Amino acid sequence: MKKFLYISLYFLSPLVLAGLLISLNPNKYSNMTWLTSMLLGVYAYTWLSWQFVISARPKFIERIFGMDHLYRVHGVMAIVSLVFVAIHRYMNLKVFSESTLTNIGQIAFIIFIAVSALSVVLMATPAILERILKPIKSVTTRIGILKYRSLKLIHNISTAALVLVLIHVLMTSAVENSLPVFVGYMSYFILASSFYIYHKVIKLWVASEDRHKITGVTQEAADMWRIDFEIDDDFYFMPGQFAFFRFASDKSRELHPFTISSSPTEQGQMSITVKELGDFTKGIGNIKPGDEIIMEGPYGRFSYLNYPYERQIVFIVGGVGVTPALSMIKHMADTHESRRVLLVWGVRKKSDIIRVDELTQAMRSIPNLKIIPVVSDEPDYQGEKGYLNKYMLSRMLDKSGISMYSAGYYLCGPSPLMKSAGKILKSLRVPKVLVHDERFSL
Ligand SMILES: Cc1cc2nc3c(=O)[nH]c(=O)nc-3n(C[C@H](O)[C@H](O)[C@H](O)COP(=O)(O)OP(=O)(O)OC[C@H]3O[C@@H](n4cnc5c(N)ncnc54)[C@H](O)[C@@H]3O)c2cc1C
Repeated sequence: MKKFLYISLYFLSPLVLAGLLISLNPNKYSNMTWLTSMLLGVYAYTWLSWQFVISARPKFIERIFGMDHLYRVHGVMAIVSLVFVAIHRYMNLKVFSESTLTNIGQIAFIIFIAVSALSVVLMATPAILERILKPIKSVTTRIGILKYRSLKLIHNISTAALVLVLIHVLMTSAVENSLPVFVGYMSYFILASSFYIYHKVIKLWVASEDRHKITGVTQEAADMWRIDFEIDDDFYFMPGQFAFFRFASDKSRELHPFTISSSPTEQGQMSITVKELGDFTKGIGNIKPGDEIIMEGPYGRFSYLNYPYERQIVFIVGGVGVTPALSMIKHMADTHESRRVLLVWGVRKKSDIIRVDELTQAMRSIPNLKIIPVVSDEPDYQGEKGYLNKYMLSRMLDKSGISMYSAGYYLCGPSPLMKSAGKILKSLRVPKVLVHDERFSL
């Protein structure tokens, strides 16, 4: 119900402004060209403002849609809004000559286009463009330009574009003639800038007060580190959720998302497992017990507790994508889960299998838990080898006594694994409602 309300608000809210503009000048907007151009402009303005609300990841919205869905909507709707701006501009330039008003709008449009293009190419590359854009991404990564951190900073320039768009709309004659229209435009701007300030300043400041003492730093595999830290006993999160973290000593103050790999049943302590990848994660081994970690969260909907009706549970994960499964399995062990549970875990080498003791202990507490590693890069491995395929999965489900169409599937890991697992489940005709995924990129 809430989901429906938010979606309706998103799609219908521009109509308030549009209605005001039409009531102010009904004759003008009886002309289809004027009406279309105005609607496109108003929709683009309001939706671009909403982008600032969405990207501030407010918890009351994130709880309903999930963070990765929010960010995907953010990306898609930013592009849709810019297409609307382009058509609005094209239609208006046919009627109006160039002026300060049109030029300001033009500059804002160029900034938005540049920021969006950089984001699509290097930051949140959509799956369909991945193959084409991969070479560009690998070159920029290799020579160290336009790193994720710099791209995030560049993304902030879109606030300047929003200010220019505000100036552009405030210069229109409709605003001069109507206080309600002025209030309408300003409300959206105030909404967008409040969420932006909340996200970039207030939330970071509040988070920086939420410090936790690190109690352990352990190398779990060649490139994976476990960080243990203290947490208040009453801190609530669901197994499988993630939070944003940074170390108090980190000068960049940038928060990074990591799944909480411990369970809420382990009171007073929490852990994350971090794979070395880029600037921030490469330095993880230098962190020492006694240092402080700063946390903002929790977030996410990727928890088996959200789907209590599922009769069995299957985790299909790859590499460090096991972290949410670790948290959920530990929770299941501590709450005496009786359903059948299967963990299919793709790793390159046997040595990438972490938390062996914890999982062995969980197998003692959950009688129906089965763990099957699938090792891809060790031909001599005595067990499942290669990459998961549909025959392998069907066999594993059969052997574990899991009925394919009544289990919930939890997918997490590198993008090729997620894609292939998604395809396998589709080819086995597993209903979409039973498939849940968590992507490790936003
Ligand atoms: C929901 C979620 C859960 C995650 N859980 C884990 C986990 O349990 N263990 C683990 O090892 N990794 C996890 N990650 C991935 C982890 O956040 C990135 O590997 C890490 O931020 C990389 O930072 P870097 O500076 O070392 O690498 P970079 O080379 O700077 O970035 C590599 C990639 O990481 C992502 N990334 C980097 N910085 C951020 C940021 N501030 N916010 C969002 N994404 C960022 C981007 O996709 C980027 O392309 C998770 C990611 C998400 C979205």
